[in-house]
Amino acid sequence: MRRERVSDDIYVFTSDLYAQVTASAVVTREGIVVVDTLPFPNETAEMIEYLTALGAGPIKYLVNTHWHGDHTNGNYLFDDRVELVCHKKCQENMREFGQAALDEARESTPILEEVELRIPALVFEEGELVIHVGNKSIELALTPGHTLDSTVAYVREDKVLLAADTVMPVPYFVWGDRHQFRQSLEFVKQYNLESIVQGHGEVLLRGEIPGAIDSSIKYLTVLEQKVAKIVQQGQGKNALDRLTIDSCGKSRIPLNGLVQDLHRANVYALYEEFTHNGEETAPQI
Ligand SMILES: [Zn+2]
Repeated sequence: MRRERVSDDIYVFTSDLYAQVTASAVVTREGIVVVDTLPFPNETAEMIEYLTALGAGPIKYLVNTHWHGDHTNGNYLFDDRVELVCHKKCQENMREFGQAALDEARESTPILEEVELRIPALVFEEGELVIHVGNKSIELALTPGHTLDSTVAYVREDKVLLAADTVMPVPYFVWGDRHQFRQSLEFVKQYNLESIVQGHGEVLLRGEIPGAIDSSIKYLTVLEQKVAKIVQQGQGKNALDRLTIDSCGKSRIPLNGLVQDLHRANVYALYEEFTHNGEETAPQI
């Protein structure tokens, strides 16, 4: 697990073990707000241990940004005094799909055997929820796209957006909705930002943010046009393999190259949408 700070009071923890998943903590003397967990129990336990040892306030809230296990598997490691928070849709998705997804993940990853599904009890539904702890205000807002329950957390005082999978090195929409994704990325642009903590990979600094968001919006448009052309010209599935992530304006390097798999899953999902003929299964990240 890698640890860094993006401001005096905001810590970011990044998984070394799976897809560079990030979790964050906003630390005040009155209490700590954690946003997301890490994929594996030992990583989340290490994060909790580190935060506890800071000698700041206790962990008061854990926010889940969406229902996917790589961001929520560690929920059960927080003690009962920690209030778990998420959007109503996230709670609904965890109730509906959480256990099955966890059971499936356990089959391929035995280290997840001890994980117990724990679903947040405190939810918000309309507009934004603002969590006030100490001198910090953390605004939660629904930003559907990666999933329909995706949420971002904006720390007003620090101008830091904990964006989770709404901002990734490549927009990954197979589990969500690409049209809403575009709108959500436009929404993200209206924040006054010093940095963005992506759900996977590197922190984006002020000067990098406009380019990263715009290239993600553009990626969604270009990809759609390219897949539509392949379908219209009846080129067949082999042509999809030639549709590289670079040709859609995104780098193939981030997340140790995993972005290429995510891109490929995007391509096949679009092809399926346009032809009702896909067969690929997509990784859940
Ligand atoms: Zn996800």
